[in-house]
Amino acid sequence: MKRLNPHLCNYMEVFDSIRSKKKGRRRQILRNLRRTVSERYSGYVARTDTLHMVQPQIYGKGKKAALRHCYDVETTPLSKLKSDIKKAQAAELAGLCQYCGVDSTPTFDHFLPKEIFPEFSVLAINLIPCCYECNQVKRAKWTNGSHCLVFNLYFDQLPTERVLYCRLNYSTTSIPQVEFYLNEPAGLAAADFQRAKSHYTTLGLLSKFNRCANTFISETRNELRQLAPNSRSVMISLLRGKVSNLVMTFGENYWKVAIAEAMHTSSEFLSSCENP
Ligand SMILES: [Zn+2]
Repeated sequence: MKRLNPHLCNYMEVFDSIRSKKKGRRRQILRNLRRTVSERYSGYVARTDTLHMVQPQIYGKGKKAALRHCYDVETTPLSKLKSDIKKAQAAELAGLCQYCGVDSTPTFDHFLPKEIFPEFSVLAINLIPCCYECNQVKRAKWTNGSHCLVFNLYFDQLPTERVLYCRLNYSTTSIPQVEFYLNEPAGLAAADFQRAKSHYTTLGLLSKFNRCANTFISETRNELRQLAPNSRSVMISLLRGKVSNLVMTFGENYWKVAIAEAMHTSSEFLSSCENP
């Protein structure tokens, strides 16, 4: 999980260009809402560190539908906005959902949900590239009243301490049972750990990691068999190198980091690499 770069642009210019593509009554409604949208955007920009406290504004059915239409129906300026948001990201992170670190990013999460905040449906800094699953699972979940339920990848300070761990349990087969878990590190404030816990729990990430783990373990085993046949010390050193590289690119709490750490201290895993 790494922070993303917010796409900084003239947000009202984007809204206006999308609005200009609408016709008839919808166009008129959006014209009348322009001042409200502008004020709401300013409010959002001013409190990106306390988004859990933003209060929804009530709109009639027609206004709500017109605002939602800005995102729900593809237009050239909307496509450009989506493309610009993706272009603002570092190349190694651009295609990978940073909520989970597992899947690609064909979709955008509305951090403040568009069902509740339709005026933010095309606000660049409210759109976070993510995978279908994270988007579906998060949906309108957003706050518990005291903090946001998932990390805001543009504005939150993400934990640099390790909180995500993994155990490999070998029983009778050579395929381990993988168990991910969270552990509160000494250097992290309790409230920050609770926020991290909320992120993983809200998005159902630990079970998602469990589903993907064995593919990564098999790939790594095959790699080690080729690179370091029957040399446990070389295997351990290769795994340490893998951990460092993954941490550098994807952060301390990337799920593959947790597995690679578990692999390099598991004698069962290392044996499975030595004995095909
Ligand atoms: Zn995801």
